[in-house]
Amino acid sequence: MEKINLLNFNHDDLLALLLAWGQPRYRATQIFQWIHQKGLDNINEMTNLSKDFRQLLQEKAEIRALDIALDKVSVDGTRKWLFRLADGNCIETVFIPEGERGTLCVSSQVGCAVNCTFCSTGKQGFSRDLTVAEIIGQVWLASRLLASPEKEKPITNVVMMGMGEPLLNFENVVKSLEIMLDDNAYGLSKRRVTLSTSGFVPQMLALKKRVPVALAVSLHAPNDELRNKIVPVNRKYPLSELMAVCRDYFANEPRRTVMMEYVMLAGVNDSEKHARELIKILKDVPAKINLIPFNSFPSAPYQCSSMEVIKAFQERLMAAGFITTIRRTRGDDVDGACGQLVGQVNKRTKNSGV
Ligand code: SAH
Ligand code: SF4
Repeated sequence: MEKINLLNFNHDDLLALLLAWGQPRYRATQIFQWIHQKGLDNINEMTNLSKDFRQLLQEKAEIRALDIALDKVSVDGTRKWLFRLADGNCIETVFIPEGERGTLCVSSQVGCAVNCTFCSTGKQGFSRDLTVAEIIGQVWLASRLLASPEKEKPITNVVMMGMGEPLLNFENVVKSLEIMLDDNAYGLSKRRVTLSTSGFVPQMLALKKRVPVALAVSLHAPNDELRNKIVPVNRKYPLSELMAVCRDYFANEPRRTVMMEYVMLAGVNDSEKHARELIKILKDVPAKINLIPFNSFPSAPYQCSSMEVIKAFQERLMAAGFITTIRRTRGDDVDGACGQLVGQVNKRTKNSGV
């Protein structure tokens, strides 16, 4: 019989499992702390559990994360992993250190079905959803690999901005977010965990009810005509609906804003007219804007706007009162950009007929 992987369980699920085995409630907290706070994968080392129970647990369960297929460190400190899943697929996880802050960029699916035209993950198509163990396993494993005597907790922020559309793997992503926020696990505040979506409106509303983490929206175009082309989910949930949800998203928490992501594509979405349209649709939306220099990949149909154009675009938005940042490109020498490394490896796997 295959063993239960305890990384698949949030606290509630673990509690239900242990109660069903006739254990007291506090066992769930103890085990949760061993796994996620101490980063343990050896049940035998859970010394506050009785020997008999440890033996029983070992017979039935295990803590099984991911295999490391590649581990690259950039000159700027960005670290990029390719993790291999049990079925041979690979996903990527990136750690970006910035002073006291350390941000982990986590994947939610193998590939992506949304098919945005500027995204190399989208170009690979969709393979499958990640399990909770595979999502939280990225945080668990990265925490272990990054831990040092100087920095016991190197990961201060998590962004669901790796491969995949997190809201299309809703249940597993929500459970993983719950584990990230759980005080007996990673204890991250809801403001330091960000989910990025291309705009699935019903799931955004459901997310707000279940776990109100920070929200980033991949906007990328200021009108439906263009957005229908480059972010195809817009045909299902047009800008009027998307902006309505964003307007109310943090209505009860006036200091929170939605991060609008806008990839800068030369000659496509970066003109003065686009900036004006953007200002118009974001009127009344509590938003900050993050301009992302386009990361090219082989066969990409776009080029990145010049820094001059990006800065001019930023100034227009700032003049209209929007806090607007330009994302610093990090880890270029380790293919730190979305979906690039995996693209290379998974293609190789396909080519070799596996
Ligand atoms: N599917 C989610 C989260 C993963 S993508 C989403 O789309 O929001 C994370 C961010 O990277 C998104 O804003 C996405 O639009 C952006 N992105 C994708 N491909 C890119 C590229 N080639 N260059 C720059 N940003 C890209
Ligand atoms: Fe999927 Fe996000 Fe890439 Fe679009 S940008 S294809 S939603 S991963």
